[in-house]
Amino acid sequence: MNLQNDMENKLRKEGYKFTKQRKSILEVFLRERKSLLSLQQIYEKVKEKYPTVDFSTIYRNIELLVNLDIIHKIYTGKPYGSYKLKELNKHHHHIICIDCGKAEVIEFCPLGLLESQLKKKNFLPMEHNFEVFGYCAECKVKKGELL
Ligand SMILES: [Zn+2]
Ligand SMILES: [Zn+2]
Ligand SMILES: [Zn+2]
Repeated sequence: MNLQNDMENKLRKEGYKFTKQRKSILEVFLRERKSLLSLQQIYEKVKEKYPTVDFSTIYRNIELLVNLDIIHKIYTGKPYGSYKLKELNKHHHHIICIDCGKAEVIEFCPLGLLESQLKKKNFLPMEHNFEVFGYCAECKVKKGELL
């Protein structure tokens, strides 16, 4: 599957143009597909190619890509949240390394475990976040003496 074509199709289907800036944002995500990126990081990387691009344009385009389900917005507690290429079309969660920023897919959703509780409270869940933060295998070795 060609991810770039896939994204281009998604944008066009919703009536958006595949502008140079959107393309360069997607290129950054494709290059760094395993990592969480902050807005600042994305801005700086796009700026290498388009020095005149401004921060708010980047922000607006990224929010658009989040709304189109092309990019994840992952709540890390850091300002602005963090973004990552959506690598899988079906619902999933991540384990995220707090040292190198690498995020891996977990094909498991804990929401089902809450089903009876939600029913009891007559609550209709619309969205949820579940990410596990820690050290990846490599960083665990590097930190070996500290952990
Ligand atoms: Zn993901
Ligand atoms: Zn790591
Ligand atoms: Zn879930």
